[in-house]
Amino acid sequence: MSEEGWPLCYEPLDLLDAVPESAPHERLWRYVLLNLRGVGADLPAELLGRRLVGGLDDQALDAHRRAFAAQSRQRSGGGYSQGRQPVSLPLAAQRARAGVAALQPDPRAAAAEVTRETRHRLQRDQCAWLKCLFANPFRAAGADPAWLTATVLALARGVRESGDFGAMPILADALQDAGCDDEDVLTHCRDGSHVCGCWVVDLLLSGKECGPFTPSGTGCSGPSRDGSRPPAPA
Ligand SMILES: [Zn+2]
Repeated sequence: MSEEGWPLCYEPLDLLDAVPESAPHERLWRYVLLNLRGVGADLPAELLGRRLVGGLDDQALDAHRRAFAAQSRQRSGGGYSQGRQPVSLPLAAQRARAGVAALQPDPRAAAAEVTRETRHRLQRDQCAWLKCLFANPFRAAGADPAWLTATVLALARGVRESGDFGAMPILADALQDAGCDDEDVLTHCRDGSHVCGCWVVDLLLSGKECGPFTPSGTGCSGPSRDGSRPPAPA
């Protein structure tokens, strides 16, 4: 992987490998959540959301993980797995396997394993998510204070709060008006597809690459804005 290779890469495991060790765990967890939601693994996503806000300890996490492993074994009858890719497994088994991959303490391992379990369905999305959550790791990302005009900040806040990324091209125009000529930033705003935790939005609003993890609304699992928790599993 190289600086030029990052935007052109469509192999999610290679992109993940290029994400630096120093990358914040929150972003990796967001990515894991997106994968779970992408295959409709609602219960594992709900459990991971609870875990991320401290509502599920190691022991409980492990118990759920083992339950999903048992479920996956029960529901895999008749299907087959090609290596690590559950191409022809029943959907319920695929979802249980994604849960096993995701519900573990280490975010990097969870991200890689959940990618392997779901990439036969989500490969394109996975690449788009990774390129939105992580800036090109081979270039330094930074926001010039001159870019942070009232218009830019209002647009970025609007996007973050609403979870509606339709204004991203307008944000690019506002950034350009403020003197931004960073091609990575402008191109991502105009051509990228976006998820909660977009690196450009967080760069503008926090002045650094990574904003705090707020597992609320806008595509991220976890408690709702009023702090209520999702229901406990049966
Ligand atoms: Zn984005």
